[in-house]
Amino acid sequence: MKRIILKIMGVVVVLIVLLQSIAMAATQSELQNQKDDNQDKIDDAKENLSNVQEQKSGVQEEINNLDSQITDYQSQIADLDAKINDLNTQIEEAQKKLDEAQTQYDENQKLAEERLVAMQESGDVSYLDFILSSDSIADLISSYYLASELAQADTELLDSLQTQKDEVEKAKADLENSKAELDNSKASKESVTAQLEVVKEEKNTEVAKLSEDEKQIQAQIDELAEANKEIDAKIQAAIKAAQASKPSKPSNSGNTGGSTGGATSTGGGAVSSSGFIYPVPSGYRTITTGMYYSSGAYHGAVDFGSGGVNGQPVYAVADGTVIVSERLSGSYGNYIIIMHDNGLFTLYAHGQDGSRTVSAGDRVTQGQQIMRVGSTGNSTGPHLHFEVRTSPGNYSNRVNPKDYLP
Ligand SMILES: [Zn+2]
Repeated sequence: MKRIILKIMGVVVVLIVLLQSIAMAATQSELQNQKDDNQDKIDDAKENLSNVQEQKSGVQEEINNLDSQITDYQSQIADLDAKINDLNTQIEEAQKKLDEAQTQYDENQKLAEERLVAMQESGDVSYLDFILSSDSIADLISSYYLASELAQADTELLDSLQTQKDEVEKAKADLENSKAELDNSKASKESVTAQLEVVKEEKNTEVAKLSEDEKQIQAQIDELAEANKEIDAKIQAAIKAAQASKPSKPSNSGNTGGSTGGATSTGGGAVSSSGFIYPVPSGYRTITTGMYYSSGAYHGAVDFGSGGVNGQPVYAVADGTVIVSERLSGSYGNYIIIMHDNGLFTLYAHGQDGSRTVSAGDRVTQGQQIMRVGSTGNSTGPHLHFEVRTSPGNYSNRVNPKDYLP
């Protein structure tokens, strides 16, 4: 009877080991598939990124062209301005000359009129007057000749003044025409410049949008690369676990014993329906930040951060295999990820430097101390950042730890 029981037990153990290695192989190939998928996505994103960058540099070149066109137009406008100023001065001078000519003409006309009136008053003007007033025919001829010659000279002078005046007037009109042309040309160049500025503004907006796209794609690539790093760690851990599971298997069946031992060190913490205990000792379990920050931003974890928590032990909340134990300079700082036998993953972050006592591939038991609470990485004060993730344990599979804790 005892032998039969032993035989059955032997078969059961072999079956368990066999099933477990099949499950591990499946997990490993699943992980590898997931990693390949991510790599495909990374390749696509990189191609997308280089397209965006090419497009951006194209638009940037267009902006440079527009800039040089605008500069060119601006210097042409400055030239026109100088010419217009010059013409304005010439027009002013012409106007001055015109005023002078007008004054001269007016004065001469006045003199001529006065002479005419004087001659009329003295009776010298009409031919009859000349005849009647002349003592002799010779006297008559000379008087008349004198008077008419005087009138002739006046007329000629006035005519020449009029001609001068007309010439200045014409010159002034020419200058005004030239100025009007330059004004037109300046206005059209200004309107072209304004249009170029509008186009340039549009191109600048386009560049800003492309830069934003570039940033987002880069962030996507970084996230995927980070995810693949985690997957790599899991694969490594799964391999180590598979190698270590055969001799250590019997001790696993003594889980309850292990956790009882751990429970003593955790201050007799209760076990939740998910089989988890608290990751920090009693008295340090105040949750200072939940799944969301007070700002409303997503946190995806709980922080145990009440006063004096610094240096407190961090416990594995359940049995499992360590898949990550490393230090990041930012982000999580010193952190550990454990893959539990129930398919859940837990993450413990910001531990003190030098306090991690487990490495990837190690088996841990519930309540076992794995690290001490610290403030490494992206942290403003000592606290334990604690995450629970569902299978396959990605960053995007985070769930509320409160639902899994006692
Ligand atoms: Zn946190």
